[in-house]
Amino acid sequence: MANEASSSTSLTVDEEDEILMLYGSESGWVDPLSHCDHLTSLSSDLIHIPTPDTPCNRCQHPAENWLCLCCKEVLCSRFVNKHMLDHYKQNNHSIALSFSDLSVWCFSCNAYLDAQAIMPLQSVHFTAYVLKFNEPPPLRAADCIEITDNRAEGSTSGN
Ligand SMILES: [Zn+2]
Ligand SMILES: [Zn+2]
Ligand SMILES: [Zn+2]
Repeated sequence: MANEASSSTSLTVDEEDEILMLYGSESGWVDPLSHCDHLTSLSSDLIHIPTPDTPCNRCQHPAENWLCLCCKEVLCSRFVNKHMLDHYKQNNHSIALSFSDLSVWCFSCNAYLDAQAIMPLQSVHFTAYVLKFNEPPPLRAADCIEITDNRAEGSTSGN
């Protein structure tokens, strides 16, 4: 006689998905390189960089541009007017940081670089992240670094 209405609704909303988005899970994610031969061409001053809302230097496209890490010029993506790609072809400046997801791309290697694993890229990635989100980037679980204010210097964990 008893009408069993066993409604067990379990809602598990995981907010941590946004971390995945930051690391570019959107399409065709491959492991980024942890080294690249073109790092020597990086600008010597990557502490002072343009803000993520800087328009393209050539066509004034307003958002989601790339920052050339060799000369700090801000140029639009291959999905807009390809000005960053043109810049690479004309000047051989291989390494650029995306202001849309803060990934670092090497045109010569044709691959993403792991900005948080490559020493010369760590500070510029950090700076760009803070400019974009007004907070420091989250630590990656894989690294398991102790949370201190001091930056670990020269401690690389090989696997
Ligand atoms: Zn442009
Ligand atoms: Zn450049
Ligand atoms: Zn490279």
